Amino acid sequence: MSIRRAPHTPVGTSSPPSPRADHSTHSGTPPSAAAPQLLAALRAAIRDVPDFPTPGIMFKDVAPLLADAALFRQATDAMAAPFADGGITHVVAVEARGFIFGAPVAQRLCAGFVPVRKAGKLPWQTERIEYALEYASGILEIHRDACVPGSRVLVVDDVLATGGTAAATGALVERLGAQVVGFAVLIELSFLHGRAALRDRRVEALLAY
Ligand code: AMP
Repeated sequence: MSIRRAPHTPVGTSSPPSPRADHSTHSGTPPSAAAPQLLAALRAAIRDVPDFPTPGIMFKDVAPLLADAALFRQATDAMAAPFADGGITHVVAVEARGFIFGAPVAQRLCAGFVPVRKAGKLPWQTERIEYALEYASGILEIHRDACVPGSRVLVVDDVLATGGTAAATGALVERLGAQVVGFAVLIELSFLHGRAALRDRRVEALLAY
């Protein structure tokens, strides 16, 4: 299965930050329920790095947020909160930054953690999916026995951009017979319309740009 990104999509480039941390520039993105003060602090702790990793990309660098003990804790608490009553059995996250947010969210939800990795990194039998990136294709893999059919899965990542990574991860989860309950991200680049790639599934983003 191949999930295509929009060709030549400039990730993280075209839109300035919205003035309110909890409101999106895109009408499809509801405001986060997290406290406005927290959202403002999180936004202030995310560094914009222009032209990284390639020219035209505005990279959202979460390293300063991660280095702040209180903010890191509060961010993962707030990402988990909308799914607290969701009966989540497993959090699935993609390397590398997805792991950083996914593992603490799993612990808050008393759920297991399942890694999705790039090709050739997982040691056991895998399901794999190929999906299109801007100028290349990527392959993601999940262990075939990562969760039993009927498991209720939350997919976690740091950034939702075009939605290609999240959609591919959701497709891998469904191949195992598990149910994707929703997607939790710290940042949504709403001008790239990643939600459209996730169809009508629940998406919770703390910050929208
Ligand atoms: P996409 O598949 O287009 O939704 O891209 C999402 C993945 O790419 C996430 O795993 C992010 O870590 C990464 N990503 C995409 N755009 C950015 C950006 N502007 N800043 C930081 N990470 C990004």
